Amino acid sequence: MSDLDGAIELLRAATDVTLLAHVHPDADALGSALALGLALHRSGATVRVSFGEPESVPETLRPLDYAGLLVPAAEVPMDAPLLVCLDTGSVERLGPLGSRVAGTVAAGGSVLVVDHHASNTFYGTHHVVDEHAVATAALVAQILDAMDVALDEPLARCIYAGLVTDTGSFRRATPETHLLAARLLAAGVDPDETARKLMEAHPFAWLGMLSGVLGRAQLAPSAAGGRGLVYTYVTQQDARDVRPEEIESVVDIVRTAHEAEVAAVFKEVGPARWSVSLRSVADVDVQEVAVSLGGGGHRRAAGYTAEGPIEPIISRLLEALSS
Ligand code: AMP
Ligand code: MN
Ligand code: MN
Repeated sequence: MSDLDGAIELLRAATDVTLLAHVHPDADALGSALALGLALHRSGATVRVSFGEPESVPETLRPLDYAGLLVPAAEVPMDAPLLVCLDTGSVERLGPLGSRVAGTVAAGGSVLVVDHHASNTFYGTHHVVDEHAVATAALVAQILDAMDVALDEPLARCIYAGLVTDTGSFRRATPETHLLAARLLAAGVDPDETARKLMEAHPFAWLGMLSGVLGRAQLAPSAAGGRGLVYTYVTQQDARDVRPEEIESVVDIVRTAHEAEVAAVFKEVGPARWSVSLRSVADVDVQEVAVSLGGGGHRRAAGYTAEGPIEPIISRLLEALSS
């Protein structure tokens, strides 16, 4: 299934590569795409990096695009010779760019999927998929090593961005993650500055947004078989003065309520359209719950989307957690 050698062969021969991250890209998705893209760009290939939505690049991730490889989704060709999809478990997670997968295959091109989601659907022609990898960025580091690409500071910073965010600041790291991180620091990455800019630097308006959103948080102690659920929601109105980065970080605060082993944040991404972030500690597998609601993710971090008024959507999650 997973074929590192096949992937290397494909990448070595490529002269035109399109790399895609999942919708609403995070540091792992975009850092991975930019690291691999930069290495291929330097070896002479025509490279473009993109994602389906939103239209703008998250501000905190812009500095990772050293070589100006990012292009708007509209500029992604329908039938690229080689499409590489990173940190993206299914075609649906490419959003409006999902059509490029079938387009590429129909034109005789290849689709390489590099990912670490257990829910990966193996939708490519080639796969480097390992659900035990702590981040897609760790798989990209393996690919670059196999291609004998030296990890200099720009490449190292892109990979570090994915590692530090997806491992919860190395709390979910393995010994191998730390060995890789040591190489990245040796290449010149500033761990304090990189992590602070990615995860901790928020505008003042964030505090006002939080006070409203956290003020309506609810605790359902009997949910999830007595393990407890803590949740809140963020409307488009709440989100009007802040960046997507601020909205994404709400779940990291909500989940600190220790009476609950599961945390959920419902984020209104369009009129009555909700993107739901699930987090868990210990025994609860939120990926299973997310998959049952049409989404995916990992054991302790997963998500799905839902449409309609918020109350029934909350009820549906409570039901799914109790079954
Ligand atoms: P998030 O809460 O957005 O940080 O996402 C947590 C995890 O769940 C990530 O691994 C995402 O890739 C995954 N995820 C989030 N939303 C969805 C969705 N709608 N469908 C599939 N996977 C998702
Ligand atoms: Mn991701
Ligand atoms: Mn990831």
